[in-house]
Amino acid sequence: MKDRHARSALAGAKPVPFWLDRPDAPQPAPALRGKISADLAVIGGGFTGLWAALLAKESDPGRDVVLVEGRRVAWAATGRNGGFCSASLTHGVTNGLERFGDELPVLDRLGRRN
Ligand SMILES: Cc1cc2nc3c(=O)[nH]c(=O)nc-3n(C[C@H](O)[C@H](O)[C@H](O)COP(=O)(O)OP(=O)(O)OC[C@H]3O[C@@H](n4cnc5c(N)ncnc54)[C@H](O)[C@@H]3O)c2cc1C
Repeated sequence: MKDRHARSALAGAKPVPFWLDRPDAPQPAPALRGKISADLAVIGGGFTGLWAALLAKESDPGRDVVLVEGRRVAWAATGRNGGFCSASLTHGVTNGLERFGDELPVLDRLGRRN
């Protein structure tokens, strides 16, 4: 019953990140061919790589930074998340206690700082 409802609710859904399934989505950059050099090479165009590259430029604008993405920027987890923002690094205290009981005070402190 539940399964049937879920299937009918998702009947028209496309397994494509919302942000990339829009007419105004940026076109992927051309593939990198040949050799290049840079002061810093960042691998992966998700949040981690994009922020690393931005912060590296911000801290030293003269630094030559290259970001290499194997598929398409934001196609992976970064383009698919639910957008919630929480200080918990463990998806809630109950889950944290169950899995990382000893480390929870540290995880809690780091989550708040984050
Ligand atoms: C369904 C879902 C819901 C989520 N909801 C939330 C939420 O609500 N709130 C929240 O805070 N977090 C959420 N998350 C988690 C969050 O989206 C991820 O933690 C975050 O996007 C990870 O970013 P990332 O850059 O580390 O990884 P990714 O976004 O996965 O990016 C990694 C990139 O590296 C590239 N790459 C990997 N290897 C290579 C290589 N060798 N050469 C070149 N490129 C390479 C990949 O192609 C990819 O584009 C969710 C995740 C999912 C999947």
